[in-house]
Amino acid sequence: MVIVMRENATDEQIEKVSARLYEFGLDVHKVVGVQRTILGAIGDVSTVDRREFEIMDGVFEVHRISEPYKLAGRTFHADDTIIKVGDAIFGGDQVTVIAGPCSVESEEQLFAIAKAVKDAGAKVLRGGAYKPRTSPYAFQGLGEEGLKIMQTAGKEFNIPTVTEVMREKHLDIVMEYADILQVGARNMQNFPLLTELGKIRKPVLLKRGMSARIEELLMAAEYIMAGGNYQVILCERGIRTFEVYTRNTLDISAIPVVKKLSHLPIIADPSHGTGLRDKVAPMARAAVAAGADGLAIEVHHDPDHALSDGPQSLYPQQFARLMEEVRMIAWAIGRKID
Ligand code: PEP
Ligand code: MN
Repeated sequence: MVIVMRENATDEQIEKVSARLYEFGLDVHKVVGVQRTILGAIGDVSTVDRREFEIMDGVFEVHRISEPYKLAGRTFHADDTIIKVGDAIFGGDQVTVIAGPCSVESEEQLFAIAKAVKDAGAKVLRGGAYKPRTSPYAFQGLGEEGLKIMQTAGKEFNIPTVTEVMREKHLDIVMEYADILQVGARNMQNFPLLTELGKIRKPVLLKRGMSARIEELLMAAEYIMAGGNYQVILCERGIRTFEVYTRNTLDISAIPVVKKLSHLPIIADPSHGTGLRDKVAPMARAAVAAGADGLAIEVHHDPDHALSDGPQSLYPQQFARLMEEVRMIAWAIGRKID
């Protein structure tokens, strides 16, 4: 952390700031310039609130040099983390596709979709059993019955599964049935839930909150990792912007930014990112081209009658075609979809 003092800062003010830094156990490197004095704080500043110094008399500005996420960041872990779940590999040179319906609706529905997406090359089956719906009157998911159907489909088609865990209370039951646990956008900063997920040893798919900055996403991952669970897959799923034509604005640039800042795999969800079926494939292609480690795509065999997110769900044949397209894009940038 670097503290730049005001031009007219007094010696006493500079001393006071230095003394406070020492109280945090930090070393202070003082650089006296012609106009300003700069104090470099050396040591672990992760528990220091920058603002405390910003408001001190004589301080002009404060800059953080190191990032507050230690476990999720690349500084102390330069190599990409690779997470394996069955045949699915997140990270490295693989591009891995998760696909399935928004919600598990019935065994017939999930089996039909699971077969189609697996045949097309998806490596993980998705489907919600506990759904975070904006309206309390909308379909809330099948709950445990949905989890059971999910597990049966996973076994039948030999494909790992991912489903959302909405609350701490459901953690044990979701753990029992699913291979990957999803934290939805609305729960990205549910810190008690993240802390509990830190205690388990199953991969977590952590979706970016709709108004969350990249740093906040990485700090949410840090919560899980701080508990000892290092298997975190990040997901860019679109953020709120002033543009309302699409459901969200898929922040494609977050992908290379996260790749630079973090060793964790990051996938993109163009289904929730756009909310519109015909925009899903173009954004999926763009995400892979931008370096995403995978995709999460909603697919439904009968989207007109889907109980949630039908308008953004691809028909199975659209999904199969998209898989061929992203396979070529992956190849073009030196990656692969097995
Ligand atoms: C989902 O993946 O089903 C979902 C609800 O997504 P999000 O949390 O990104 O809105
Ligand atoms: Mn959905």
